[in-house]
Amino acid sequence: METPSTQLTRRSFLTTTALAAGALAASGMAGCSSVDTSGDAANDLASTAGQEETYIGTCHGNCGGRCALKATVREGKIVSTLPMEFPNENKGLRVGCVKGVSNPLRIYGPSRLMYPMKRAGERGSGEWERITWDEAIELFANQLKASMETYGGASNMWQGGAGNMNGILNGTPTGIINSAMMPDGTIAPLPSFNAGFANSRLIQKTGGTVLSVGHDMAGIVFCFVHLSSPQSAVEDLANAKTIVAWGANPAEASFCRAAWNAICTGRENGAKLIAIDPLLSTTAAHADEWVPVRTGTDAALMCAMVHYIVDNDLANWDYVKNKSVAPFLIDEAGAYLRLSSLGQAEAGTDADVPVVWDEDAQAFVAHATATNPAIRGTFDANGVAVRTVFDAALENIAPFTVEFAANECGIPASQIENLARTVATEGPTSFYINYGLEHTYESWRIYFLIGLLASLTGSVGIPGGSYVGSINLGHESATMFKQPTTFNEDDFTLEDAVPGGHFTGDWIVQIAETGQWAGQDFHMGTLVNMCANPLDNFSGSSALLKAYDKIDYIVTIDTIMTTTAHYSDLVLPCCMPWETYEYIEGGIFEQKAIDPVGDARSDFDIIKAVAEKMGYDDLIVGEGTDYLRRYLDTPENIEAGVGFDALSENGVVLGDYSCDAHVTPEYNPFGRTQFYLEYLMPRDNWGQMFGLQDRLPYYKPSIEAYADNPDRAKYPLYGMSSHDIYHGQTLWSHHPWLDDFRKLDGQPFCRIHTEAAAERGIKTGDKVRVFNDHGSVVLNALVTEGIRKDSVWVPHGFTWDEFEEGYAQSLTRWCPDDVTSNNNFNDWICEVEKM
Ligand code: SF4
Repeated sequence: METPSTQLTRRSFLTTTALAAGALAASGMAGCSSVDTSGDAANDLASTAGQEETYIGTCHGNCGGRCALKATVREGKIVSTLPMEFPNENKGLRVGCVKGVSNPLRIYGPSRLMYPMKRAGERGSGEWERITWDEAIELFANQLKASMETYGGASNMWQGGAGNMNGILNGTPTGIINSAMMPDGTIAPLPSFNAGFANSRLIQKTGGTVLSVGHDMAGIVFCFVHLSSPQSAVEDLANAKTIVAWGANPAEASFCRAAWNAICTGRENGAKLIAIDPLLSTTAAHADEWVPVRTGTDAALMCAMVHYIVDNDLANWDYVKNKSVAPFLIDEAGAYLRLSSLGQAEAGTDADVPVVWDEDAQAFVAHATATNPAIRGTFDANGVAVRTVFDAALENIAPFTVEFAANECGIPASQIENLARTVATEGPTSFYINYGLEHTYESWRIYFLIGLLASLTGSVGIPGGSYVGSINLGHESATMFKQPTTFNEDDFTLEDAVPGGHFTGDWIVQIAETGQWAGQDFHMGTLVNMCANPLDNFSGSSALLKAYDKIDYIVTIDTIMTTTAHYSDLVLPCCMPWETYEYIEGGIFEQKAIDPVGDARSDFDIIKAVAEKMGYDDLIVGEGTDYLRRYLDTPENIEAGVGFDALSENGVVLGDYSCDAHVTPEYNPFGRTQFYLEYLMPRDNWGQMFGLQDRLPYYKPSIEAYADNPDRAKYPLYGMSSHDIYHGQTLWSHHPWLDDFRKLDGQPFCRIHTEAAAERGIKTGDKVRVFNDHGSVVLNALVTEGIRKDSVWVPHGFTWDEFEEGYAQSLTRWCPDDVTSNNNFNDWICEVEKM
């Protein structure tokens, strides 16, 4: 199988080196695309080997990692960003990836925004006029004021992103939870102010609307908010005997490198690695077994595995009975039988816990006191029929047998059976799941099923047993560094806050069509994209672009010229790491190493100036570091040596590293693994209703990429995309060094199977068009055996202008779901033709 890395010839390496050096030395760049490629720059660099200083920071990009990187500065320029070194006993934790070490080429890269610009032609025409910061701030402030006065504060929308900044001081609230369940059971919108002091204060002051991100929210919302799934440290993967990388490619694309390091250690200790993925990813290529499941059918596979384990009595019944919600009893509507139903507790109190049927006592008892809970059966509770959650779950997935899954997933029944037997009998098993699993419509359903599968195999909270993989935030930096434990969050909250809005930004498409949100009229006055690039990174971005036409004014604050910036009215350059101070959760204080490139300013300074121009002189007072000092300097942190002074001086403070298989204490109200929810709380609430079937494990085919879709006569191939080691959304776009690895003959490429390619007369290196009813993109073809015959892979993370024609995200559809508003990057069908 050919790989694009073979494209890196000695010539291209030398060219790249010159580009890199040129970029590093290009101090006089103007506009957004000026790199010295003359070759003299490399000599300039070589001659700057004077005094060096080092500073700690991190990419804090959207790989989710928090690798501590040490930047070396020579004569005011960053010349390298290398993983921080650790004392001998922690050497295995030295993390970072190729993206991390290439940070200098981002900072001094060809698409870096250098100065404020306002649109000079039609939106998207690419005609810009350079303006001063004074003009930019005045335009920005006047626009916010005009929208407020005409349409109300909520018409100013602040789109958060997982982009470049996302820190405590800079960035904007990204908002994981948009709604909260009230004590009376109603669902209310929730403000979100967990990042970006300055804009949090301005949004509250003006009653703005926070737009949160939709991508990857099925896992985060379902695992952490709805199911409160337990977390284990990623390093614990080394203790597993069976590791299932499911929709995950930890060899390349997961949080930091420690997960893959731990998997490799586990394999050296004899663990089996199984990769479940339509693509022969780097992880799958290293695995003992590759299960090439069809995209979007993972839930069917999980259902079949559950059936096989139960039918063949392979389950860890002790775990199922005593550590999962399997024995809880529900009535016809799905409400738990609680002690109050039996007259043994006051309803709504902490004492009013769910009960189970205790086979030993032959009575209903509080779940924690039962010695032998029944997990099967229907019982009479004072005239009300109740049945176990386990029975309800098995009934809900009854149609999705091994035979069904074999047909649906496109893999042999024998492989499903062997897989189920292996995870059940060759444990401890770690199910290492990642976001690839959730990129189809209503993918939140898989989290019920993985919870059920983990319960049946006892893969929770034991050494080597876990099931939330990379979505788990307990990555290694959290254990390496001494953490501040308390924070002063007063600065985030205004006493005179004006109520605003908060929902997932993808819904602006619906607002553009209806003029309403949640049944109320909604005018889209100003959209401020901060660290956010929806047009490149949200699924169905063509629909988003149409919605942009209905927005009066668009401001984008970013570090590079993204597609979203291209379609804006005002573009403002902000700082990258090492150009400003920042604190990143996980115990990392980012030290300022260099002056900002060009005219870039910190988000804090930009928003502070806008607030002052709007007349809010007292809203943001002092420097950003003043706020950071107040945030970090609690008595507890100072005493522990991780107050502002200690962190700002050292960057990080090493802690006592330990790697236990730890489960988050009190991880949910019952301390049991959940695969059922009594109430399903939508992330964005407009009064939608959910039935019992939605609150139990279930398989529902994709909305577009399903086998019987009649459109498959035109578009027979299933589409998918993924991140790899050279990409992390568009943070790393226009990167001359990484492009050598992630392009084929200088172009982004798609992967297509040998047989599918032969049917279409396509060979590796041919120019092809991938198309469907949503859009099309022109790419080079990489013909390979390493993908399902019925599937096509396109890259994720290039901006539109990096394609010769069309763009990859145009192939995806806009379809956020009603529960998590998730993005669906793998739910589309297509055809490929040679050009
Ligand atoms: S793993 Fe993520 S945070 Fe770490 S160096 Fe790579 S891109 Fe940066």
